[in-house]
Amino acid sequence: MNTPFSRRDAFGMIALAAASVAAGITKSANAQTSQPRKGNSDIYQFSVGDFQLTVLSDGYGNFPAQQPMWAPEATTHDLQQALTDAFLPSDQLTLSFNPVLIDNGKDLLLCDTGSGKLLEPTTGKFLQQLQLAGYQPDQITSVFLSHAHLDHLGGLITDDGKPVFSSAQHFVHDREWDFWTSKKPDFSKQRLDDKTKTDLLEFAQKTFGTLEKTFKRVAAGTSLIDGIVVQAAAGHTPGHTALRIQSDKQELVHIFDLAHHPVIMFRNPSWTVAFDTDEALAAATRKKLFEEFATNRSRVLGYHLPFHGVGHIAKDGAGYPWVPEAWQQT
Ligand SMILES: [Zn+2]
Repeated sequence: MNTPFSRRDAFGMIALAAASVAAGITKSANAQTSQPRKGNSDIYQFSVGDFQLTVLSDGYGNFPAQQPMWAPEATTHDLQQALTDAFLPSDQLTLSFNPVLIDNGKDLLLCDTGSGKLLEPTTGKFLQQLQLAGYQPDQITSVFLSHAHLDHLGGLITDDGKPVFSSAQHFVHDREWDFWTSKKPDFSKQRLDDKTKTDLLEFAQKTFGTLEKTFKRVAAGTSLIDGIVVQAAAGHTPGHTALRIQSDKQELVHIFDLAHHPVIMFRNPSWTVAFDTDEALAAATRKKLFEEFATNRSRVLGYHLPFHGVGHIAKDGAGYPWVPEAWQQT
């Protein structure tokens, strides 16, 4: 069985081989021995006004579609039917992990960082994708953390406790910081088992402790850089936030973990996941913002929605179907 480290090396070799072929620099003498690329693109670029956004996949995860982890509010039949109706397996949920880099020509703002080595082998690719897209970690000027779960902050520090983005100002909502750094965070409304709660807490505290001096705590309404404003979206965690990204009369709302799966929480926004710190608040926030986005025909981006994660939210009865945006070639 491969160790995680050797798997990472394998990922790197595949990615570098693919980059060489894409750049047309593979020498003919090597052509016979180079390996065909396996898998699809992990980098997707699009614009919002004058901003260039690059979605850099950290990978994906497959999870059993089991209650009560997922949708305990539903009957098992309704949960399975929702998946079957969407032509998906009824026993498995696939989630993407979509960190995003925003380049406005002056600032490089990174939104979440993936899971680092914590959820390998199907995740942990973000740093390689960043470099394949032409950026180095020390070029990043700002890092925004939507919330302190390990699939979002796992890429912030190295194994030996150093900041990965050494030149960056880091941002997080002040309520998120206060929750995870308090002596006894209130998990009383969360359905997770104690071991998982402890694991989440330990890694959040280790990361915040390491980066305490580089984090600036922000509130709803704060402008991170010109055109990018923090919006409260609490419930999944106490300080979970969205970002409104506006440039030249165009807007995109990054909803992060407002919803995790492209079917179940859109089919019924009251269906929750055990990772919600306050599931009732998470459901209420989701319903309120879905209604707003559907009414305004907002363009949105989700961290766990199928890569590239960009689309719109429609309305159909009590549900809000996810409508992914067509893949653009430029
Ligand atoms: Zn997440």
